Amino acid sequence: MRKLKLFFWLPVLSIMACSDDPISEEVQVESENQIESSNAKDPLVEIAYPDSKGAVTDIYYTGMKMPVENIDGKYIYQGDIIIPRGKASKSPVKLVYEKGEKAPENKSVGRTSAYWTDNTVYYEIDGSLPDKDRVYDAISHWEANTNLEFVKRSGQSNYIYFTPGSGCSSYVGMVGGKQNITLASACSTGNTIHEIGHAVGLWHEQSRADRDNHVTIHWNNIQSGREYNFETYVEAGYDGKDFTTSLDFGSIMMYSPYSFSSNGEPTITRKDGSLYSAQRSSLSNGDIQGANSMYSANGGGTGGEYINGEYYTIEGLRVLRNWDRWYYYSSRGWREVELRSGTWYYVFE
Ligand SMILES: [Zn+2]
Repeated sequence: MRKLKLFFWLPVLSIMACSDDPISEEVQVESENQIESSNAKDPLVEIAYPDSKGAVTDIYYTGMKMPVENIDGKYIYQGDIIIPRGKASKSPVKLVYEKGEKAPENKSVGRTSAYWTDNTVYYEIDGSLPDKDRVYDAISHWEANTNLEFVKRSGQSNYIYFTPGSGCSSYVGMVGGKQNITLASACSTGNTIHEIGHAVGLWHEQSRADRDNHVTIHWNNIQSGREYNFETYVEAGYDGKDFTTSLDFGSIMMYSPYSFSSNGEPTITRKDGSLYSAQRSSLSNGDIQGANSMYSANGGGTGGEYINGEYYTIEGLRVLRNWDRWYYYSSRGWREVELRSGTWYYVFE
């Protein structure tokens, strides 16, 4: 029964792939407000604050400098991702310590791939949220297709709180405590599936580390000041890894080709310049593969196995896995490092 739902969705997806992409009619964009409204109408791009534009501020998070938009006291990244303000700092953070060196207790390294334990996500729904069925339907979809279970909170301290907002937004991974998913009236069930994807640990598909092998970013067509939305999560210094071997154009976490376009021209295309169809109907096979890597059938929450020869970003540090050990390219060349209680240390032979 549960599997059938997935098979049911596949033909729908292939039909969608033939349909036209929503293209902004606006060719000449003259004011910030028009820019915002053109994105607000795109159901394939989630935006936290579609009607506002905040100052772009540089912050240090996971040890790297990154630009975020500062709106309503929140740090917003890539449109709909909220950066936990308490974990960001205004100055650089040291990421690897020599043996015997004492790491500060409260170093500002954000762990963005923190997983929910026992495959269980606790949640609560704000009583004033309109159309709660969006949340129930999105949760049912996640439960039907993955090993995750969503349980109404009964006093647990880490939980998702679905609440009204000016747009759709979420944090990435379990950040600890109450973490909001905001849903404006325009946010669909598909957008809700997308935001839950962030909350369980998924990034935007077009920000994967190897995306430049699969897509071209057309920087000249991006709204001025919004270029940072097209950084890869590795450039931003986040924890994360890719779960499929190549970019999944059908991912519910993939932005539309016209995301943050300033002129109605595409901002993301395939390498050959052609368009693709983004969708917000269901998790793709790749999304399901990713979710099941993070949350395996036998308990999960491990983030899957690390593969020798691959790079990962963990606790803000880009490290290479080899011979089942970790290596970091420091100013003194390759050095072995190890992670102890959330802090990286150099290993001495
Ligand atoms: Zn998103």
